[in-house]
Amino acid sequence: MTSSSELSLIYLDSNATTPVHPAAAQAVMNTMTQTFGNPSSSHITGIRAKDIMEKTRQAGKKLLNIEKGQLIFTSGATEGIQTAILSALVEAKKKIQPNKQYYILYGATEHKAVPNSLNHWNELLGIHAQVKAIPVDSLGKLDLNFIAEHAEDSLMICTMAVNNETGVYQDLSALETAIRTHNPQVFWMVDCVQALGKRDLNIENTSIDYAPFSGHKLYAPKGIGFMYVRSSAPFTPFIAGGGQESGQRSGTENLPGIASLKAIFDILNNDSEYQFSSHQQLEKYRLQIIKALKKAFGDVVLNHSLENTVPTTINFAVPGFSSKEIMDLFDAANIRVSSGSACSSKVTRSFVLDAMGLPAWQSESAIRMSFGPMFTQQECDQACNRILSTAKALKQSCLIDTSEINETPLDGLIELRSGNNCCWLFTDKKTKTAVIIDPVHELIHRIVNIVHCQGLKLTAVLDTHGHADHESSRTEIIKALNMSTDTCHLGWPNSANDIKVCGQTYPCINIGNRKLIKVATAGHTSDSVSYLLTDAFDSVYQPNLCHFAFCGDTILMGSLGRTNFETSSAADMFESLQLLNNLVGEQSLICASHDYYNEFTTTIALERGRNQLLNAVLSKNIDVGAFCIQKAELDAHLNDEQGGEIQCGAYVEVDTALKIKEYDKESLAQLLKVNQDIRLVDIREPHEYALQHSDDVELNVPMTRLVQFIDECSSQKKDNYVLVCRSGSRSLVVAQALGRLGFENIGHLKGGYALGL
Ligand code: PLP
Repeated sequence: MTSSSELSLIYLDSNATTPVHPAAAQAVMNTMTQTFGNPSSSHITGIRAKDIMEKTRQAGKKLLNIEKGQLIFTSGATEGIQTAILSALVEAKKKIQPNKQYYILYGATEHKAVPNSLNHWNELLGIHAQVKAIPVDSLGKLDLNFIAEHAEDSLMICTMAVNNETGVYQDLSALETAIRTHNPQVFWMVDCVQALGKRDLNIENTSIDYAPFSGHKLYAPKGIGFMYVRSSAPFTPFIAGGGQESGQRSGTENLPGIASLKAIFDILNNDSEYQFSSHQQLEKYRLQIIKALKKAFGDVVLNHSLENTVPTTINFAVPGFSSKEIMDLFDAANIRVSSGSACSSKVTRSFVLDAMGLPAWQSESAIRMSFGPMFTQQECDQACNRILSTAKALKQSCLIDTSEINETPLDGLIELRSGNNCCWLFTDKKTKTAVIIDPVHELIHRIVNIVHCQGLKLTAVLDTHGHADHESSRTEIIKALNMSTDTCHLGWPNSANDIKVCGQTYPCINIGNRKLIKVATAGHTSDSVSYLLTDAFDSVYQPNLCHFAFCGDTILMGSLGRTNFETSSAADMFESLQLLNNLVGEQSLICASHDYYNEFTTTIALERGRNQLLNAVLSKNIDVGAFCIQKAELDAHLNDEQGGEIQCGAYVEVDTALKIKEYDKESLAQLLKVNQDIRLVDIREPHEYALQHSDDVELNVPMTRLVQFIDECSSQKKDNYVLVCRSGSRSLVVAQALGRLGFENIGHLKGGYALGL
């Protein structure tokens, strides 16, 4: 097996968490096996444990220059944040005057633990203050004027020293002036999680009231943190109980965690045989990585300035690639990075970059690389080399600019997607001719790169209709590729020939030995057409000669295109559906211009089984008048507000998710042992596959080529397939799609390569 174990791990996600420093690990081990006492015990083992704890506290106080204030051990920063907020708001509540509007302020780029806790305690304590985000500028710096305006009526102000996504640091002394000039009493919390070891924190020289920290962001284990509490700041214990930490944080102390912090404090205090890299050295590493990224991917865009950020964070975007694509690529190359906010992996854009007012594409494509002060020159060199090798894999997939013609020519249908918009590229390997259907703006670069790098001759760039919800990129592609503009407004060449199909004449172009037939299918819009890609035929056409029917928004998976636009006509759609039924085989694959539910493709047979209205039309059980009434009712239920997008189809019925056989590493190994017929299919993209895959894999069928695979394997639907991907989520989606399309024996590897194959 060519496995991830063969490529060493390049870990560039230290802002999420770090490995444990050997000195910290050693300290943990000592307190687990030798000095394992309970610091509250009065015997010698307990006294020794307590001594470790107090020495750690002293080392922490030395680091932060704390004399009067307290340093309290917690389970991590989230607990520190709760404690600070609870303490401040309990006290603030006592002074609230009736009928006065109060604010609680927090930075717009704060970690979600802060606003969520503020809202939680504001409500639970019945304070009813207005919780307001302090805006930031394009550099991520807090708006001091906003603070000045609102501070007087604020109960608490929460800011952060260093941002976890961008590494942006705030000018704490300017912030302090803005706050204290207008409100000397307001409680001020500064989240210092990402500042530890990266910024000088002379905390007691400031008027910060609370400062939470976390161990696992700087080489201590997870589950240990600490917080600074100013001597004059009020305090309410968040955890009451046995009275540990002078009654301020009960529960038997996490001595191994505390001991590990001591090892880290000692390094930061220069009281250790170990050292961290200097700020200057870390900045050099950052510049070296940025240089490698630019060399690898060309026009990489940095999402922050290098001036007001800590040197251990790089947040960037590669034009034309989503964060998810780059994450998948890097994971295949065994480079760990993070996309958007690591703490909410479902979010596809970054609220931090949105707050900074960066363009949407930068937020959607954001990748964060972060390392810590243990990073070495050797690791940095390795990381740069690996980044270059990942880009090479992308070049081989024709996804980034390359002047060389690729030696593995594409053949057949490729689906390129942007969100739920589907764009189709059909290529004929022999003649190198190709056609593009329904291109979208976000895919222009990708399409142009593929055409150049494959040396393709584009016969046409086509739209199935004038799209209401997104712009076609047809004209831009035609311009970029210097193509003929002698076409209709949907891109159909005026030079096309006619062909006779079922007694009617249709315009037709050839792509290799296949035919692409244009059929007017008005309804969704008055200009809607469908393109049928068929095998060559002489005089007699049969619907099953059609492999792919590009129907635009006429038939969508699980729905019919909406017919409530100005140029729509449900009556025309009624006719168009019947026409398509005559020309498209029951098993021909319908390639729509949207895929809202990750189904990839469908067939008339499948849609008839679940779309009663379509079935009624095709069975001639409904007349055009009744169809129009029912269609209008369906369209009335469309929700354009959903996700801010126009829904192009009236959804008819949701399939109950198919049950898919799931394997884990052990059960798959067992299956492969006893069943020689299992076909293990890697469904990641070719560049991911090229970087790393298992030797047990028989086929690479990337999601972009799934519809082509379905077409080719229509006679092998009884075969046993087990699908694998990076984490098991793509393989599940594809397995469900294949199951729905009649593949009878589909399973997938739960957890994918991540959990082992
Ligand atoms: N604050 C910031 C800035 C962080 O980066 C994190 C962790 O990602 C937290 C708070 C929460 O820290 P913990 O994981 O210790 O609860």
